[in-house]
Amino acid sequence: MNLVINFAYVVSAVLFIFGLKMLSSPATARKGNLVSALGMLLAVVVTLLYAGLDYKWIALGVVVGSVIGLVAAYRVQMTAMPEMVALFNGFGGIASMLLAWSEYHQQPELTTFIALVTFLSAFIGGVTFSGSMVAFGKLSGAITSKAVVFSGQHLVNGAILLAALGCGAAFTAAPATSYPVFLAVVGIALLFGVTSVIPIGGADMPVVISLLNSYSGLAACAAGFVIHNNILIVAGALVGASGIILTNIMCKAMNRSLANVLFSGFGATTAAKGGGPQGEVKPATPEDVYYILEAADSVVFVPGYGLAVAQAQHVVRELGEILEANGTEVSYAIHPVAGRMPGHMNVLLAEANVPYDQLIEMDEINPRMDSVDVCVVIGANDVVNPAALHDESSPIYGMPIIETHRAKTVIVLKRSMNPGFAGIENELFFYPNTRMLFGDAKASIQALIAEFKEE
Ligand code: NDP
Repeated sequence: MNLVINFAYVVSAVLFIFGLKMLSSPATARKGNLVSALGMLLAVVVTLLYAGLDYKWIALGVVVGSVIGLVAAYRVQMTAMPEMVALFNGFGGIASMLLAWSEYHQQPELTTFIALVTFLSAFIGGVTFSGSMVAFGKLSGAITSKAVVFSGQHLVNGAILLAALGCGAAFTAAPATSYPVFLAVVGIALLFGVTSVIPIGGADMPVVISLLNSYSGLAACAAGFVIHNNILIVAGALVGASGIILTNIMCKAMNRSLANVLFSGFGATTAAKGGGPQGEVKPATPEDVYYILEAADSVVFVPGYGLAVAQAQHVVRELGEILEANGTEVSYAIHPVAGRMPGHMNVLLAEANVPYDQLIEMDEINPRMDSVDVCVVIGANDVVNPAALHDESSPIYGMPIIETHRAKTVIVLKRSMNPGFAGIENELFFYPNTRMLFGDAKASIQALIAEFKEE
């Protein structure tokens, strides 16, 4: 039986790896998700074939979990997806922590290695859980999205981490007599999750989310060692590794090192104004914008979080098709941290069937920006703020942006002059080549489509 189970685990692992590979391109991502899900189904079914399981509790867990998951998947708004992802990361973490805890109760006489992985599973799982809850709070607006910093914070965090490592060493040395130490590990882990995530805020949140995702994988991997389950080790390692790769990509997108993101307390201070254009903005009507678009040879749409709020992806694709029929070259410039979760814009535009070859990455579009006739910024703000390029006092200084201000004309679709996630003013709105089309992005684009249809 063990041979059959382990063979099925190898098949699952292969499906995970192929699934992950397919997720790296929008054209195959949907299939990749299915392939990975199939791998997980196989792993779960095969694991349940182990003898001696109490199916009554498992069935109850499956029913309750499935109902909650189904209701959440149907009811969650697209804009609340990032918070849901943060919650899911957290649940992964607490599952690993509880698993380590319950295994310790079953068998406190642990070998040194198993004691070590039990500690790691509980500690990383606990940090992931409470850290993800803080990230959830920040993303949902329940707590301030700004960095919460206080003097001596690094010392406090360092002391907490040292205490955790000390407890880990004591626990690993004598697990059978160290239940209070194990409980202390759980408590310290939950505390450290909070204290290590609160100082990260503003535009740095994407890094935290992918890092927590990675932690949830590492915790699962350690949990796999605790219960000797090969597929949990493999799946956990895959999530841990892909999370770290994503974290690295996000850091590069912010032009920051991971250490700088984790310890610098982004956005805790308000930015000083730094010499960009200011004054009056120039509002435009849908009719004005229609004439500009109608005459353009090339149009680049730059989507941001507001596209998700307005659910404007379908109307944007419709406008894109109208422009193409009018002989305009149309593309969509994607910033790696636009929206509120990695790949947010890709998901939305794929849902609206925007052709993949029209999606252009930031590094590819910027060198061509001077020759673009019109950039239409749809609910993006921080990712097009030119202050990031020249204003050293700005909290987003150094973050690469989509350089829409270099296009001949910029049209910004948003509802007001309110700032974006980082909470800072955007000088792009005051540039001489910028026009503001105020209103909900979907309504504004519908008005533009109506103008095209009228003519
Ligand atoms: P921003 O949050 O900077 O700006 C979004 C803009 O959308 C707002 O200024 C808002 O202005 C506008 N908006 C909101 N609703 C609508 C609507 N219905 N119609 C039209 N406009 C609307 O978004 P960006 O995508 O530019 O930047 C992403 C930010 O989020 C970055 O700071 C990034 O670091 C951060 N972040 C990213 C994550 C990721 O993984 N991608 C995760 C967490 C944070 P108004 O209210 O005036 O309409």
